[in-house]
Amino acid sequence: MTTETQTATETLGDSARNELVVCGRKLLEFGLLSQTSGNISIKLPNDDVYITPSSMEYDRIKNEDIVVVGLDGKVRQGSRVPSSETPLHCLVYETRPDVSAIVHTHSPYATTLAVMGMSIPAVHYMIAVLRTTTIEVAAYATYGTEELARNVRDAFVAPSKAVLIANHGLVAVGSTLKEAADAAQAVETLAGLYIRSLTIGKPNILSDEQMAEVFAKYEKKPA
Ligand code: 13P
Ligand code: ZN
Repeated sequence: MTTETQTATETLGDSARNELVVCGRKLLEFGLLSQTSGNISIKLPNDDVYITPSSMEYDRIKNEDIVVVGLDGKVRQGSRVPSSETPLHCLVYETRPDVSAIVHTHSPYATTLAVMGMSIPAVHYMIAVLRTTTIEVAAYATYGTEELARNVRDAFVAPSKAVLIANHGLVAVGSTLKEAADAAQAVETLAGLYIRSLTIGKPNILSDEQMAEVFAKYEKKPA
């Protein structure tokens, strides 16, 4: 690696650390993350994955607490233990080249549906931001295991940006951390709408034709 490339990578790494710390606090403030639940990461073009440390409250995490791992999950840099869900983050990055950031939360409405094993249908047109008409549920496995990572990978078909995990939470992805965090927030909003409408009666679900029109409009939306 030339000195120039090394400096560029270090700069990207520094801003990844910063973004993760700031985003973690924001998601905590929005109530999507709580205490030490959930984890977030960014993959750099050289396949270094910057990930939050395990079991550390989001308002305590500082830039130097972020851990750098390879796609094999092995620690490359950092003194903290990387998130227990490192295998899940790495497998999603491996199988989804369109993904450069991952947000995993146990946000309340989405997790309620995940507990019920209920996928989220097109209850509102904004599900289109997640590039899917259904947010699927990945099968349950113990947190932090390779089995859970495989279950998430299997349920997470591109270009969908979100999947629920049975009795656990959700995984949202994006090409940037902001995109992944926005996706996680959109899932929570949709889950809230779905649960509230189910308490009143039988929600009307948008048809594939109705959603096709929305997707066509989203294609033309300014970025
Ligand atoms: P970590 O603190 O190890 O990231 O675990 C939190 C979590 O959500 C496990 O699924
Ligand atoms: Zn979790």
